[in-house]
Amino acid sequence: MGEVVRTVAVRSTPLPRKLFRAFVELEGMYRNMVKQLTLFAARNSIASFTKIKALRYRELRSLYPHLPSHYAYTACQDASTRARSFLRLKKKGLTSREYPEVRSVSIWLDDHLWKPNGLTAIEVATHKGWIRVELEPHKQYWKYVSSGWRLASEAKVKLDKKSRRLIIYLTFKKSVEACESRGFVAVDVNENYVAVLVEDKVYLFETGFRDVVLGYHYRRKRVQEKYDKLFGVNCRVKRKILRKLKEKKLKNDLRWKLANIIVRAAKERRCAIVLEELGKNPAREMVNHVRDDQLRHRIYQASFRSVQRAIEEKAREYGVPVVYVDPKNTSKMCPVHSAKIVYSNGSRVGMCSVGSELWHRDAVACINLLLRARLGNGGNAPSLGGLFVDGRGMPFPSTATHDPTGVPKSLWARRKSLGATNEYKLMRMSL
Ligand SMILES: [Zn+2]
Repeated sequence: MGEVVRTVAVRSTPLPRKLFRAFVELEGMYRNMVKQLTLFAARNSIASFTKIKALRYRELRSLYPHLPSHYAYTACQDASTRARSFLRLKKKGLTSREYPEVRSVSIWLDDHLWKPNGLTAIEVATHKGWIRVELEPHKQYWKYVSSGWRLASEAKVKLDKKSRRLIIYLTFKKSVEACESRGFVAVDVNENYVAVLVEDKVYLFETGFRDVVLGYHYRRKRVQEKYDKLFGVNCRVKRKILRKLKEKKLKNDLRWKLANIIVRAAKERRCAIVLEELGKNPAREMVNHVRDDQLRHRIYQASFRSVQRAIEEKAREYGVPVVYVDPKNTSKMCPVHSAKIVYSNGSRVGMCSVGSELWHRDAVACINLLLRARLGNGGNAPSLGGLFVDGRGMPFPSTATHDPTGVPKSLWARRKSLGATNEYKLMRMSL
């Protein structure tokens, strides 16, 4: 049994000037506390919350006697987190700053400092007493409220001064029971496709992650170079543009969509998911048009991992077990004859050196992942039944060509399940 945690940001309705001013004052005091504490913690190399609190609580209380006392607690927690990450960077030599900078602040609230007031409002304890704030709930918020998630006692509040609203970060939690699995869904991630073996079919999802990742990288770099030249390294306009770029990237982020489709398919069939265990050098061999070796390695590593992470995260949410197997040679070995598959001229279809049958690279990778999961390091999922073990069938008739069409991104990105992609008669390769 595990627990899944999600943060949801909800805006308040615009507040009357007077009420909003109370929050501005509150934020000012909170910010001062956090600044002092963080500085203190970093200077003395203390990152422990209890220690910071033990040393500074009394002083904080006497400095801000009107403030509800728990703000001193949460400010210590906030500062402890900041100090910890600063000290870590410092230790690794990744920051040249003497002291941590406290720039953006959200006010941390614990169960003494806020409470829900019905489903569409909250109350926040301030130096002016409890203030009721109306929320503007959105679809996602209702989804969490109505589907078995419980609201955690901690929350954070940020001020949107332009529109006089609060942005409230609510935390939802849910306990998930891991379901017993009856089989496996194998997932092979490579540079432009994610191949998924469900029952006896391989679905090839076109992702174009290569272009997305590299495109983003180059755009980012262009912005950086341009503005560094014009206004120096620390310019505000640049930061703003980069932030916009990042938001845009996240918004168009299809990894979650894909993870959703895959995990749901596994859940429906009560299967565990098989993923490659990514070593230190995943994907190096697949990359060829970025010059800088180190760089392209890093970029790819990040993108592969991020696909896996999305799948892991979703799997946790749905209680679907994940199994990891060694990905070595998964696309190079014939699962029937344990012989080498020969690919010529960068083709994605290769020929078994013993049986001469044809294999599609991504399909074979999935099958091998599945076999490895079943053969040992596969956890508790029982076998699928003699699907491949007897080696009776040629997986493909040797006359057929198997150049799969793939599920184009434009289509799967709008679908919610494998079933829906089927309607479009897309890539479906029978084994
Ligand atoms: Zn073979």
